[in-house]
Amino acid sequence: MIANRGEIALRIQRACSEQGIETVAIHSNADSQQLHLKYATQTLCIGKAPALNSYLNTTAIISAASLSNTDAIHPGYGFLSENADFAEQVENSGFVFIGPTAAVIRLMGDKISAIAAMKRAGVPTVPGSDGSLTDDNQRSKRLAEQIGYPVIIKATAGGGGRGMRVVNCDSELIQAIEVTRAEALAAFANGDLYMEKYLTTPRHIEIQVLSDGQGNAVHLGERDCSMQRKHQKMIEEAPAIGIDDDTRHAIGEICAKACIEIGYRGAGTFEFLYEANRFYFIEMNTRVQVEHPITEMITGIDIIKAQLDIASGKPLRFNQKDIPLNGHAIECRINAEDPDNFTPSPGTISQFRAPGGAGVRWDSHLYQGYTVPHYYDSMIGKLITWGEDRPTAIARMKTALLELKIEGVKTNIPLLEKILADEGYREGGQSIHYLEKQVLSGK
Ligand code: ADP
Repeated sequence: MIANRGEIALRIQRACSEQGIETVAIHSNADSQQLHLKYATQTLCIGKAPALNSYLNTTAIISAASLSNTDAIHPGYGFLSENADFAEQVENSGFVFIGPTAAVIRLMGDKISAIAAMKRAGVPTVPGSDGSLTDDNQRSKRLAEQIGYPVIIKATAGGGGRGMRVVNCDSELIQAIEVTRAEALAAFANGDLYMEKYLTTPRHIEIQVLSDGQGNAVHLGERDCSMQRKHQKMIEEAPAIGIDDDTRHAIGEICAKACIEIGYRGAGTFEFLYEANRFYFIEMNTRVQVEHPITEMITGIDIIKAQLDIASGKPLRFNQKDIPLNGHAIECRINAEDPDNFTPSPGTISQFRAPGGAGVRWDSHLYQGYTVPHYYDSMIGKLITWGEDRPTAIARMKTALLELKIEGVKTNIPLLEKILADEGYREGGQSIHYLEKQVLSGK
């Protein structure tokens, strides 16, 4: 069962088709025109358009699984993919959850327990409070002093870039803690906070892992996802420039070992901030990520297929030394949004032409006549290019963006073109602030 929508639902459908696995596609009543439904063995409408009534409705999804004789459920990304209670209910109902165990999702979902587990496993973390902040303001002040300003206050249940606040000096600290706690309580019903050193100009570098839950784990190298706006990734690339082989393998091995230590099963990502040649763990994503194709392009490993294999109990097919890292890949996220003010732009696709050619991959559920609903995320496709080196991948991306034609909705394509033409971007290795500060601000 594909418990998702959009491009990732199609991606999972394709992997299943290749494997001869039959699929059940579930969808909301706003999504009956989704492309993957045409190829699924069975389709089931599970509820109304708002995600709470459909893609986030555990009872409806599990009922649909029972009705359709489903064996296993692939949650994709977003929606219920990192919801431990969902994973637990899926397994308790007799289905396989394509992902780690509920206990591991829970461990990694709480940032404080995740950081503690990573520390035990030898993964480098950001200097911080070693657990929750208490009501003792003097203690918090001493902690901040020890860590050194600036610090960042983060909600342990936070996500999507919400529930955090940077504090520059002692006089701002206590109020910042109070405001963040109130926000965290309102947004996540959990007021637990912790404190970390705020890294001023880090890059976002993440390590892709595969672990079979049977004692074998490998890393598939890293991705640089520093081109972000409001903590949302816009362009990703693999490998990250400036990371040499020894560094890559050292941090990759640490992550693979950590997987074995925590009993990890499936595909996962260790996200790090990287500053002054050092890695600092920030969180683990216990699911497949949007940007997984760039890793597939440089390793030749099909990550969704690996997820399916692991879920069916097969041990990993490859050792670390069998995994090549070949060339360079870039992904641009194509969103239906106004490039000037980033507001979503739903509507019907009146004209559509996909790009193509050597080293070009287009992962998208779009077609002419398809209506982008206003209920969900505005990402409508991912354009991925591969080249033997970074300049070739960038040149191919420019060409592919030129070929890609989407009319009827506004898209961020002009913005992506602007970034690709930017000198600093082309130089590479920029920090997570570069896009907002240097490109989007108009300099
Ligand atoms: P979320 O779960 O909300 O995505 P993360 O912990 O992954 O939260 O942090 C999101 C983003 O916030 C990071 O990608 C980074 O841009 C910024 N950030 C988080 N922690 C720090 C830190 N200690 N120093 C600097 N920036 C940080």
